[in-house]
Amino acid sequence: MKNTHETAAETDTSAVMAGRNITLDELATELSAIELRLRQLARAAEVPASPVELADIIDSLRSTASTVRETSDRMGLLARIVDGDVPLAKVFRDSGDPWGVAARGADRPGYGGPAIVPTVWQLLKLAQDTKRPGGETTTYPEAMDGIGIGWESKAAAVRRRRERDAAVAVEVLRLPCEKCEAGEGEQCKTKTGWAAEQPHIGRQRQAEANVDDRLGYLGDNPVAVPDAR
Ligand SMILES: [Zn+2]
Repeated sequence: MKNTHETAAETDTSAVMAGRNITLDELATELSAIELRLRQLARAAEVPASPVELADIIDSLRSTASTVRETSDRMGLLARIVDGDVPLAKVFRDSGDPWGVAARGADRPGYGGPAIVPTVWQLLKLAQDTKRPGGETTTYPEAMDGIGIGWESKAAAVRRRRERDAAVAVEVLRLPCEKCEAGEGEQCKTKTGWAAEQPHIGRQRQAEANVDDRLGYLGDNPVAVPDAR
C-alpha cells in the first residue's frame, strides 16, 4: 500500500458531498472545479509577482488539469449510467456472462469472479456493447436492483483492515505476555532477552480478539450480503 499517511484535513470529507456518501455527480463536479482552479493557477503563474520563469510549473499544472478533466468526464458519464440514462448490455458480449443481480451465484473463473458490483471499465464496456447490433439491453438501476446495502468497495475494505491492524499493534503492548513475561509497553523478547518486533502468538491472538470485539470487525466481508460473493 503506497502513501497510507493521512492528515486530519484529508479525513474530513464533509466539504465534498451533501449526503452521507459521495455521488458520482458530486465527484464529477468537484473534479471539474479542481481542473478549473489548476488552469487559473497556470494562467496567473504566467505573470508572477516576482520575476521567476515558471514555464515548467505552468506546463505541469496544465497537464495535471487535463488528467483531472478526463476523470471528471468519466465520472460524469458514470453518473448518467447509474441514473439509468444510458442503456447497457444485459450480458458481456465477449463472454455472455451476466452482471449485477443476474450474476449472483454465477461463476466467472476467467475474470476473477462474477461482476455483481461492476467496475468502471465493465460499465463503460457494457455501454459500448449496446452500440453493436443485437443483444438485449438494461439499465444500471434495473440490473442492480437490491444490491448496495452492505456493499463495501475494495479500497474501503483495505482501509478497514489497515485500521484494525494498527489498533491490534497498540493493543498488543497493553497486554502482558504470558510466554516471555513482557509487561505493559514492553515488546516481546527472545529467551536470551533480545527484543522482538513480532509479539508471541498468544499475546497477538488476545490483542486481535480484544480489538475485533471492540470494533465488531468481521473480516473480509463486514456485513452479510446474501449471495454477494
Ligand atoms: Zn512474549
